Amino acid sequence: MSRTHPTEPAPDPRFPFPHTPGPTRCRRDPALFDLDLGDLSGDTKEAAQQRLEEARRSCSACPAVTACLRWALVNKTLTAENVFAGTTPGQRHALRRRLADRLGPDWVDVLAARDQARHARAEAARHTPLPVSQARIVDLDRELNGPLRLLPQLTAEEQRLNRSRLVAGLKAA
Ligand code: SF4
Repeated sequence: MSRTHPTEPAPDPRFPFPHTPGPTRCRRDPALFDLDLGDLSGDTKEAAQQRLEEARRSCSACPAVTACLRWALVNKTLTAENVFAGTTPGQRHALRRRLADRLGPDWVDVLAARDQARHARAEAARHTPLPVSQARIVDLDRELNGPLRLLPQLTAEEQRLNRSRLVAGLKAA
């Protein structure tokens, strides 16, 4: 059996596999995540269980785990076997049924629509002008202090004068 790997193109472009800064454990060690390999290589049930636990530990430490789970749930045909986001095929089947109960039979479309709405809100927030109160504060600051000016670099002579004024002021205090 060949492991279906996240690097393969996902059939649903609305849920691409998440980018990670470095290679995930499943890319470095795909055999660990291959549930059937235990049977093929003569693993005992106990050894296969240990391997599953190790795969789950790796997934729980993976920065992509949440997005990986969504990807695995949505892309059912690509993830019919093996461990993804710490889940077995049976667990993913149960999760899909729960999502269908909660969101309806079109739950994948519902999730995609929610994602789209969230992105639209985030995009709109980036372009929303300052609230009136903040804009007024900015205006007042400009009225009182004028436009922001960068202070010119002092010459060596001006720096020497400033130092001597400071020393004189400290002595007089
Ligand atoms: S959560 Fe697990 S299966 Fe998903 S990318 Fe990370 S290591 Fe791989």
